[in-house]
Amino acid sequence: MAIVVPVDTTDGRRHLRVASPATQEVTGDISVTSADDVRAAVARARAAQPAWAATSFAERAVIMRRAAEILRTDQARFIDVIRRDTGRSQFESLMMEVFPALDSLTYYAKHAAAILGDRRPGLHLLRTKKLLVTYRPLGVVGIITPWNGPFILGLNPTVQALMAGNAVLLKPSEVTPFAGALVGELLAEAGLPADVLQIVQGDGATGAALVDGGVDKISFTGSVATGRKVGEACGRNLIPCTLELGGKDAMIVCDDADLERAAGGAVFGAFFNAGQFCCGTERVYVHQGIAEDFIRRVVEKTRALRQGTDGEFDVGPMIWPRQLDTIERHMADAVARGATVRCGGRRNLEAGELCYEPTVLTDVTHDMLIMQDETFGPILPIVVVADDDEAIRLANDSRYGLSGTVWSKDKARAVAIAKRLDTGSVCVNDSSITYGACEAPFGGRKASGVGQVNGDTGLRGYCHAQPILVDRFGPKEEQVWYPYTADKERTLQKVIRWVWGTPLGRWMS
Ligand code: NAD
Repeated sequence: MAIVVPVDTTDGRRHLRVASPATQEVTGDISVTSADDVRAAVARARAAQPAWAATSFAERAVIMRRAAEILRTDQARFIDVIRRDTGRSQFESLMMEVFPALDSLTYYAKHAAAILGDRRPGLHLLRTKKLLVTYRPLGVVGIITPWNGPFILGLNPTVQALMAGNAVLLKPSEVTPFAGALVGELLAEAGLPADVLQIVQGDGATGAALVDGGVDKISFTGSVATGRKVGEACGRNLIPCTLELGGKDAMIVCDDADLERAAGGAVFGAFFNAGQFCCGTERVYVHQGIAEDFIRRVVEKTRALRQGTDGEFDVGPMIWPRQLDTIERHMADAVARGATVRCGGRRNLEAGELCYEPTVLTDVTHDMLIMQDETFGPILPIVVVADDDEAIRLANDSRYGLSGTVWSKDKARAVAIAKRLDTGSVCVNDSSITYGACEAPFGGRKASGVGQVNGDTGLRGYCHAQPILVDRFGPKEEQVWYPYTADKERTLQKVIRWVWGTPLGRWMS
């Protein structure tokens, strides 16, 4: 079945009909924003942006805090829409979308002024000048988001771009357009001026039109394949972009790990959001000495999970039906090549049309699809390794490098392993939660992405850091100005000898 289908219309525009992954009932139609509409929206955003950029950080913060208060007090309205679009449980919608949204709104409201305020770094050499670094908004930012976190993955970059003084065009995934549109509704209710944030709806064609629509930056979150196209288009348009892409995150369980906690972390990391989590645990490397005990606990905990689409449950359906094809392709390949299904391993039609049972696999080998490609589903393959070195080698032997986790009671050992992983971030003794730590710069390495979002780095990424160098004393001329004379060369040689040829000079430089 399809969650998004085109519908015939008489208004000359493309329309898409969207259904809920939980019930397959139609949730509504969206009118697709055409390339012309996108260009018109960019023009409106460009007209609205200077007045927004002229507001103070404090004024912008008032709107963000008001939005947080609306979200906190009226959360049921937001959760209802998120649940209809994703089929997720009540708790997961609250924990994964609303909680971090409240944090993002209030964190950047509180800290943007300090992070983006003018800086005056001292100059080590050009002592006759003063340096001011000022963070100028880029202008109009295009944000393109996927379906697996449709509210938070739209809201978080939007808040950062807005706090930096930009206008924003946000294109949610066509799979979850209504949860994405909530970002616009929330900020409009909070008093954001018209056209400073606009939602453009549609599929890949609208996304591509946005990248080519004359914006000043693209913040893209989605698959590697689309990320490549977006990166190429940004290169053609000479605009910066951040690409937050897929992953194949590894979990390394050392022989001294707290096994109960590690097993719980593996189950949560793999099955959270039904495995549709960019930093989900997609592979486990466990030390041989504790492997049997660890696997037993993981299987027990997995069997205890309640799957469903209604009432109280732990694991929901796949949000995008095509994901089921990927899961089944990876599973068929693994089983055909000798993997053992310890639990799960099939669709769960009793729980819901789009549900796949939380699955644990052992006897997997490194060359299987399930170990090589992003599955983005509730499958947990476990590999037994001899030591830390083998675990690190296998973890790094991947075209992805988003995040990863290391589990050991010896934190120094775990941090040492973390430093050897070629990933954007690592969590020790916890599932991958770095995206939820506002202070942490977040981004992938290798095929998992380009650039970083969040924290000081992410916020400043929505600005141009403009250095303004001011002369302090105003002599009639500078030593290096015309005419070039032998005298001036001798003076310059003296400076070189002193600065790079004496201990005091070297200390100062
Ligand atoms: P996708 O790449 O199919 O779509 C993402 C967005 O791009 C959608 O809004 C889509 O309409 C749009 N799009 C499609 N073609 C486009 C084009 N040519 N130009 C511009 N936009 C285009 O990804 P998806 O299936 O929605 O999301 C799942 C993927 O997202 C997974 O790989 C997952 O790992 C990744 N993801 C990464 C992060 C991260 O932070 N690294 C977070 C969440 C999801």
